[in-house]
This record gives sequence, structure tokens and C-alpha cells, in this order.
Amino acid sequence: MDWRTRLVQPQQLAPTGFKSLTVPTYRGSTVLFDSQADVRDDWKQQQDRYTYGLYGTPTAMELAARVGQLEGAHHTFTVPGGQAAITLVYFALCSAGSHALVPYSAYGPNKEMASNLLKRLGVEVEPYDPLIGADIAALIRPNTALIWTESPGSVTMEIQDIPAICKAARALGVPVAIDNTYAAGVLFDAFAHGVDISVQALTKYIGGHSDLLLGTVSVRNEHLKEVVGDTFKQLGLAVSPDDCSLALRGLQTLGIRLTHLEKSTLAIAGWLAEQPMMESVLHPAFASCPGHEIWKRDFTGSASVFSIKFRDEIPAAQVEAFVNALKVFRIGMSWGGVTSLALVYPNLERPGKNYGGRLVRLNIGLEAPEDLRSDIEQALRTGIK
Ligand SMILES: *Cc1c(COP(=O)(O)O)cnc(C)c1O
Repeated sequence: MDWRTRLVQPQQLAPTGFKSLTVPTYRGSTVLFDSQADVRDDWKQQQDRYTYGLYGTPTAMELAARVGQLEGAHHTFTVPGGQAAITLVYFALCSAGSHALVPYSAYGPNKEMASNLLKRLGVEVEPYDPLIGADIAALIRPNTALIWTESPGSVTMEIQDIPAICKAARALGVPVAIDNTYAAGVLFDAFAHGVDISVQALTKYIGGHSDLLLGTVSVRNEHLKEVVGDTFKQLGLAVSPDDCSLALRGLQTLGIRLTHLEKSTLAIAGWLAEQPMMESVLHPAFASCPGHEIWKRDFTGSASVFSIKFRDEIPAAQVEAFVNALKVFRIGMSWGGVTSLALVYPNLERPGKNYGGRLVRLNIGLEAPEDLRSDIEQALRTGIK
């Protein structure tokens, strides 16, 4: 053969039999078949055979299976991010004319999709009070196709009574999905508490280093696997095997990171709760967090993200000055990485509540807790008069 042909279709020259501790990063769009009769275009690579890179290379499939095992799922799909996971659930379960329920405290872009894209496609998404519990039954209609939950809620941290919501939904045959990102799939056992679908932004704790975007959708049973898989295939939710490889590495240190982050975060939140300018600390392990009793009943621990609400006498401009004065904490979106972050949320839409630009969300990272505490101390002195 010509050298050009050999360049394109090489023999493997390296010795076989390499054994390492890591999952290889398999890149590939085309998957080879042994004969024309074997050719398939099917997302069910788990039970049948590999068909196309779009549905995951072995690297993505390994990540999906490991996250699924951690969550106790029947099956897990990997998708390009947490928001893609939310999209997949909506598109799998809702059609024109459907009604869905989403808590006020849900991740912002979930609500944004509800009031824009989904509305345009004829799906009505109704917001509800995250603390509603069993009373959710009264909001369920004959066309309700999906109930979202998220616990704790984004930014305002309400803990939901998931078992009560799932019981009411199951009685009326409505599937319940949870955005389980906070719990990293481990601090809250979503399937044991009754949910049908659990999504995570692996971008947060499983990635763990602010350098990748990935998500997962885990399902309880074969029926939901079929329904979600069919839509997964059509949406073309491809993931990068390189990102999956980083997430697999992140999984190896998830346990030790969560343990350390919980401890540091509790220490800093506890100290903040004693500061005179604080109205409340919204951290699930504190009685000041709405739904704290449910957290004690249902969770096995807490994570690194929480919010603080300054007293109403403190002008919003001073809260902003406090955030700007932080030096170790950085200003930025997302959380779950090794770096401590702070962000003011000026436009939170929570009926009956006005946070007036006085709510700051903090993410505690892996810096020494003493440095984080002295950073907050100096920023409070600088910003709050
Ligand atoms: C970050 C986040 C998402 C979205 O994840 P991306 O990977 O950034 O798309 C979804 N839900 C929650 C609760 C999040 O915090």
C-alpha cells in the first residue's frame, strides 16, 4: 500500500496489554461494523452494541454508568451540561398542550426556558411554592405531564418535602423530576425518596474544578429509559470524551472533597450567622433555612453553597461594596469547584419575598478556612458602614 493509505489506515504498532488505573479517552464519531448486516442507528448501546459516537463513546458510557450506580438509577444518560439535562427532561415528557409544575426556587435558566421556549411550543409551566409539600395535589391537572423539584432551591435554598410531593404525584400518575445537583447524587438519595428522574450538573461537584460542562439524566425504570432515550437521540446531545475523562477523575476525589467542603462551609456559615449585620444564613443545616427539618430527615450531609441575607437597614450598594472588597473569594457564576466564589442576586423573583439586593450566595472552596474567614471580615469592614 502507498504510504498515504498507510497513514490513514495504520496498523497498531504499540504493544497491547497496557494496564493503568484510568479509563481511556475514546474519541470517535464513526463506529465500525463488521458487516452491512450489523449496521444500526440506535442509542441503546448499553444492551446492543456501539453504533455512533453521538450516543457516547466508552468513556461517556463509563461515566454514565458510574453516576447511575452512585444514584441507584436504572439508567443514566450523559448530556453536555446541567441545562441540557433539564431540556432533555422537558422535551421527553411534555408536548404541546402539556402542563408542568416548577418551584419558584428552581435554577433560573429552567424557569427561563419555561417562560420562553416552552411557552412558544405550547407547554404551560406553572411556578409553585417550593414548600408546598402534599398540597401539590391541588395544582395537578389532567394534562400535567411533569413536576420539577429542586432541593435545596437555587440561591434561596428552600428544602422541599420530596416524599410528600412524589406520593401526591404518583397517586395521579404524574412523573416527578429533581434537579439533584446540590447533593452531587450522594447527599440525597432521590430514587429512595420517590423521584422518577434525577438530573445533575456534573459541572459542579463531580467535575469539581470549574473546567468542564456536563450533565446527567438518571431514570428510575425501563419505561422512562425508553421515553428519555428516544428524545435524547433526536436532540443530538453529544458530550466530549475529554470532558468525560475529567469528570471520571473528579469522581475519584468527590468523597474527600465533599467531606472537607461540608466542614469548612459549616464553620464559615456558623461564624457568619453570629455577625450583627446578618438577617439570616440560608444553609440547610441551620434552622434559619426554610425546610431545615426536612433536610435533617432526608439528607446525609450538606455541601459548599449557601446564601446570606443582610439586614434591611443595610443598603444594597453596601452589600455590593462588600462583594467587591473580597479578595480570596472571587466573583463568578457556578459553584462546586475548588475556588471560593461570591455573587449578589439583585433580581430574585420569589412571590411574597423581597430580598432587595441584600442576598449574597457564597461557594466555599478548598482554600484554608481561616483565610476565607479573614477575607470576609476585612470585606465586611470595608463594605458595610
Ligand atoms: C449550574 C446548575 C445547572 C446548569 O448546569 P450547566 O452545566 O451550567 O448547564 C442546573 N441546575 C443547577 C441547580 C445548577 O446549579
